[in-house]
Amino acid sequence: MTNVKGEKKKKKVKVININADKCNGCRACEMICSAFHAAPKYSSNNPARSRIKIIREPLKDVYVPVYAGEYAVAECSGRDKYTIDGKEYEECAFCRASCPSRSDFKEPDSGLPLKCDMCEGEEKPLCVKWCMVDALTYEEREEEIEEEEKPEDIETGLESLANKYGLQKIIDAVARMSQKG
Ligand code: SF4
Ligand code: SF4
Repeated sequence: MTNVKGEKKKKKVKVININADKCNGCRACEMICSAFHAAPKYSSNNPARSRIKIIREPLKDVYVPVYAGEYAVAECSGRDKYTIDGKEYEECAFCRASCPSRSDFKEPDSGLPLKCDMCEGEEKPLCVKWCMVDALTYEEREEEIEEEEKPEDIETGLESLANKYGLQKIIDAVARMSQKG
């Protein structure tokens, strides 16, 4: 259906609520995420391929789940440094971006960026299902928006990836993804 510009339409918004106080650092979420995204699906698990990462400080009983967010073409000029209960965390530790300044949220073999896709095709995100202590909970709601996503936005994103990693790597990654499931 063609959307007339300016016309309101409903958009489903998926939200994972994170309660870090409940997280016990078991890393089941990392395991199931990496297994779900393995090719073929569930053929292996490797937390390095997970789209969720647990920042762990076992001696202080601190565990903070962080989700992989948008790909960043260039590193930003600012840095975040958190101190929680007297403990200093690495710069950018809680950032969600897959960015050139660090190895987090990158596919270990290809270096391609990882991003949480909310377990596309599943009724509920698997990390939420596998979190036995309800540190992760899920909700959906509808919001009104005015415009559809423009095809140019997708092309700009693909062009950035192709510039960064080379067109062939992107084509190979898309081919791998299309074989999943
Ligand atoms: S599954 Fe839940 S409790 Fe375990 S590490 Fe992940 S968020 Fe924390
Ligand atoms: S919602 Fe799915 S893709 Fe996103 S981190 Fe959880 S398991 Fe991974």
